[in-house]
This record gives sequence, structure tokens and C-alpha cells, in this order.
Amino acid sequence: MDALKRQRAPAPAGPLFAVEEGSEFEHDTLDKVSVLFPLPLPEPFDYRAATSLGIEPGMHVIAPIGSRLVRGVVWEVQRNNPAAANLKAIEEVLPGPLVPEISRTFVDWAAKYLVRPPGDLIRMVVRSPDALFPPPTYTVLAPTGETPPKLTEARTRVLEEAAKEQVNAAELSRRAETSSAVVKGLVDCGALVKVEISEDPPYPTPDLSRTGKDLSDIQQAAAEEVSASVRAGGFHVALLDGVTGSGKTEVYLEAVAEALKLEPDAQVLVLLPEIALTQAAMGRFNARFGVTPVEWHSAIQQKARRRAWREITAGRARLIVGARSALFLPYKNLKLIVIDEEHDSSYKQEEGVIYQARDLAVARAKLGECMVILASATPSLETLVNAQLGRYAHVKLASRHGAAELPNIELVDLKDAPPEKGKWLSPRLVRGAAEALLRGEQSLFYMNRRGYAPLTLCRACGHRMKSPETESWLVEHKYSGRLVCHLTGFSMPKPKACPECLAPDSFTSIGPGVERIEEEVREHFPEARIEIFSSDTTPNGDAVRDLVARMENNEIDILIGTQIVAKGHNFPNLTFVGVVDADLGLKGGDLRAGERTFQLVSQVAGRAGRHEKKGRALIQTYAPHEPVMQALAAQDRDAFFAAEIAEREAAGMPPYGRLAAVIVSAPNEQLANEASKSMGRRPRSLRVSTFGARRLRRFR
Ligand code: ADP
Repeated sequence: MDALKRQRAPAPAGPLFAVEEGSEFEHDTLDKVSVLFPLPLPEPFDYRAATSLGIEPGMHVIAPIGSRLVRGVVWEVQRNNPAAANLKAIEEVLPGPLVPEISRTFVDWAAKYLVRPPGDLIRMVVRSPDALFPPPTYTVLAPTGETPPKLTEARTRVLEEAAKEQVNAAELSRRAETSSAVVKGLVDCGALVKVEISEDPPYPTPDLSRTGKDLSDIQQAAAEEVSASVRAGGFHVALLDGVTGSGKTEVYLEAVAEALKLEPDAQVLVLLPEIALTQAAMGRFNARFGVTPVEWHSAIQQKARRRAWREITAGRARLIVGARSALFLPYKNLKLIVIDEEHDSSYKQEEGVIYQARDLAVARAKLGECMVILASATPSLETLVNAQLGRYAHVKLASRHGAAELPNIELVDLKDAPPEKGKWLSPRLVRGAAEALLRGEQSLFYMNRRGYAPLTLCRACGHRMKSPETESWLVEHKYSGRLVCHLTGFSMPKPKACPECLAPDSFTSIGPGVERIEEEVREHFPEARIEIFSSDTTPNGDAVRDLVARMENNEIDILIGTQIVAKGHNFPNLTFVGVVDADLGLKGGDLRAGERTFQLVSQVAGRAGRHEKKGRALIQTYAPHEPVMQALAAQDRDAFFAAEIAEREAAGMPPYGRLAAVIVSAPNEQLANEASKSMGRRPRSLRVSTFGARRLRRFR
């Protein structure tokens, strides 16, 4: 109740009705009103309301659940339904824009598809309760042009300052170095007037008279194809498929412009996989449309969230750039959704409501009759299959823009060119980085594992340090001095003695993570400026932006990174990439292991030589003959996917079949095992595999 009061506190005057208990019986008919609450409830709950209140689907209301009053969204209204008399009454109707019909349809559809209570999904739609109320205002003083009767020196200073910028009274007297009485005197005599300013003003409108870069013929043809689909209207999906640096962004910017031109309140949503990329993207959008797009992701402040939500719902926010959660916002008139780096695994939410934003975006577009552009240099297998089957248009950009060429990719067979004992970089990788350093260019070592070493082993008794909950190995993090479970986040200080045999200082670190690679790189290049790029070294968007900017400005010589480096960064002076362990992603039995390895390694390699300088990538592997490694070296994506698609089809795996994960929870392991086994004695038509928690997670 307190929380509710707090939320309602800013409610100013407006179309806000308090419903008086019993009053509706006297002169009015009753409506049955179903309300969906942002709670994990299986369905909307029914209430009564006087017909004269004019309650409509999509309105925001407050209604009782048990003894609590909860805010919800009207899902359905049955006018004049006498049976409603037995129901509890709606407590209050809130102001604020309706949740549009398309959003409600999408919630119902997604709830069924994801097998989740619809309340879990409406929570993702109504993300900023404050935004229902008109924005708060603040008061500033503006000059009226009237000359005050007595124009003292102090008054002149105040008027001069007020002409420069409209600020509040206290700030104005501070700037004019005078007392507040002087400022008040000017207000009293009419030389200054109080003006109420909204804290959340509308966003500036994109300037659609601007034009983009001069496109090459290939880019122009691609831009025309996607723009024509946008103009045609209705549901279309296009795969914009071009190597890294081929100008996919330039092409989809043309489609964005076209969509914004369709109607005065037409909206475009661009999803990006990583907040870190937002800044660079913002700059490009700004250059193209003269405005910064509206941002939506987990890191934006509450005030910005409130403003964005209100403006998006009203159709005044036209161009939105966001993370996957932005898909659920109640757009008034969404015409185009662009999913950049559509293959990226961060579009899949693995916690809470589990969903794949790419798939849901296509469904949302179908329900709302709009267009989707999926852009990638390494599309997901599902998307490629859809393009091959003709469900999606396949728009291709075959080469890099301008002088930039694709990097040379070579395999380094670790059996032939092994690193020194206890080291991880073969001499060829070290030489590659040394040459780049001599030329004044940058290098990147890619190692997709955080921390120092994935296993901490007691030399005396062989004990392995494991996570108490998941039984997975604890990863040593040398900088923090802790052992960390990468599945659950559990961590503990590295013990001084083995907890099993009590031998002191008996631990040895097995295998490498980025911190260990950094140690080795420093031994080779003590003078170089070396940094690690992982979620540990860049825990938030600002840290990522800072590191990316330093890399772009050539303040770093050698970067050692996890998969965070694979996400679309554009480092002009980076010419050498060394993939330390390309086999890592192939382990673990994940259905998409080969596909992910191909995507990640080719994306990482694609960071090299994005501008005039030729790039080179070396890939260390013990399995150079694996199809995925051969395809990487030959840069033959089509052959790789053809083989992968054939395998999936033969095995009935997605997208040719579906997988379902059933999570069995039990007070102890034995019970869980028994329950899983009995489930395993299944109907013939289902193939069931049982996994421990660790493998299951990987499998998702
Ligand atoms: P992708 O999205 O396919 O990786 P980008 O659109 O980011 O490619 O283009 C790569 C680089 O080439 C960017 O710096 C971009 O500004 C530049 N570029 C692409 N096309 C053009 C063009 N027609 N004119 C000028 N610069 C271009």
C-alpha cells in the first residue's frame, strides 16, 4: 500500500477518477472489466465498473487483489453485464496513454508461445509507472521585454543574465551576483515572468531532409530493395547479409529514413546486442538524422526511462535504439524493427522470462504488420534457413566498403607449432603481434574465458576446487584474488591451504583465461600498452565506452578480450587478431557449438583491417581438419552452413524440430535423478536426454 501511495504521489489534476463504492448502482449500468496485473498470475481478473466511467481496454487502473491495491491494465470490457454486480469494484482509473491493442495482442501471443503467465509479459510493457502521469515541471524566469521603472546596475545585470539562459530565481541571483530581492522585484514589476518547463520535454524530430553517405552501386541496390519493402508496408522480413564492414549500417539507415517518412508518428526500433555499441551507433544516427535516438536499455536512469516510455507511447519518440527489452514497449505506430548483429547470443534472455528477441521481433512485426531487417555478417542458421526457404528476403552485400579488404585468416595447428611448455601462444601468434607493433598498429588476442585459470587443482591430493551449488569448477581470478563460479556468480577468496588435505600452498592453476594470456603477452612485450577487455574489467557501459574510445584513439597496443570484443567494434588501426583457443567453444555438447564458433571467430577476425590497412588473423586449434576450422580458413561460410543445416535436418534438430527443457527441482540430487529417469521412460515420439544443471544451461 505504501509503495502504491508513493507511486501515486506525483498525480496532479487530470482525467483521474476515484470510484465511489456503490454509487454506480444508482443510475448506471455495470461493465465487467478484466484487468491484467504485472504479476505472475495465469489470467486477467474480473471487476465491475460503472459504464459511465467509459473504461476501455488498454487503460491503466488500480484494483484490489485480496487486501492489496494493485496497478494493472484493462484487458477486456463487457459493457452492460449485470453479472458484474457480484464482482469487486475497480478502485481507480489512472491517466496516461492506453496500452495499444497491438501490444496487448503481442502479450497474449508471447505468453502462449513462451508458456509464461501473461502478467510476466505486461510487466515488460509497463516499465515506467511514473510515466502515466504528466511530467513534473520546474519554474524558470524569462525576460518579458518590459523595462523596469528603476533600472539599477543590479537589475541590469539580472536582465542580462536572464537573456542568456532561462534559469530559476536562485540561480539567476547567483549568476548576477545580487540578492534574491532584486530578482523578485523584477518579477513583481513585470520585467521577468515565471515559465513552467516540463522535466520531460518531447524529443526533437529526426531531420528527414538530410541524406546519407554516397552509396556504392551494390549498397544502393540493397538500400533500394529494403526501402521498397518499407514503402510497400505490411509484414516483411529481410536478411541484410554482408561481410563485416560492407556498409550494412549505411544501408539500413536508408530503410530507417524511409520508414520515418511514412507517417508523421511512424516509429523505428533498432536493437543492438550490446549497450557498449550504443554510443558509436548514436553518433552515426546523429550524423544521419541530426538527432540522438531515444535510448532504452537496463542502464538508463529512471527519469530518462519515464520520458522515453511516455514519448514512445505517444508516438513522439520516432527513432529508438535499444537492447532486447525495448521490443516490449507500447509503440504507437511501429513501422520497422532493425536487429543489428542478429546472430548475437545476447538477444536471448536466459533469466526470468526466457525469450529470443529476434524471434519475438518477427512475431511482433507480423502481428503489427511491419517490417523487420535482420543484419549480420554471420547470420544465425535459423535465419539463413528462413531466407533459403524464401520466407525472408535475402539482401546481400558481398564485399567490404572502399579500400578495406577482408583479413587473411590462417589456421595454426597447435600440434605442429606448439607454445612453450606452460604457455598458450604459439611463436607465430607472438610474431604476428610483434610485427603489428613494429608497424605502429594494434593487435587483439581473443580468449573467450574470463579470469586467470579455469581450474584450481591441489598438487598434493588432486582435489579440484568446485562450486558448492553447481559442482562446476571455480575459475581463478588473479586480480581479485578470488575463485568464482561463472554460472551462479558464487565466489570465495582463494584458500591458502587445500580444504581437502590441508597441504599449504599446494594449488596449481590449470588452463588459461584472459588474465593469464595478458601475463604471457606482457612477458613478450614489456613496453607495450596492454589491456584486458572482459565483463570483469568493464563492469558497466561507461567503462566499456572508455575502453573502446582508448582503443579507437590508439592508446592501447594490444587488447586481450573475451567475446565482448566480437560485437561490432570498429578499431581502425587494428590489423592483427590472434584467436588463442578456437576449440574452446566446440566443447560441451551444445547444439549450436559449431555455429557459434564460426560466428564468433569470424566476427573476431573481422575486427582486423576494417579500414585501408590489410588485416591478418591467426587461429590456434588442435582440430584444423574440423569442418568449422576449414570453413573459417577458407572464409567459406556457405559451405559451413550447408553442412550444418544438413546435419540438423538429419537429426531433427532446430529449426527442423523443437527442443524443450524440463527443469527438475528436488530437495536432493537422488530424488531429482529418479524423477528425471522416470520422465525418461517416455512416450516413443519424444526423445529425452537428461543433463545435470551445468550442461542444461549450456544447452539452452
Ligand atoms: P557493417 O555494418 O556492414 O559492418 P558499416 O556500415 O559499419 O558496415 O561500414 C563500415 C565502415 O565503412 C564505416 O566506417 C562506414 O562509415 C564506412 N562506409 C560504409 N559505406 C560507406 C559509403 N558508402 N561511403 C562512405 N563510408 C562508408
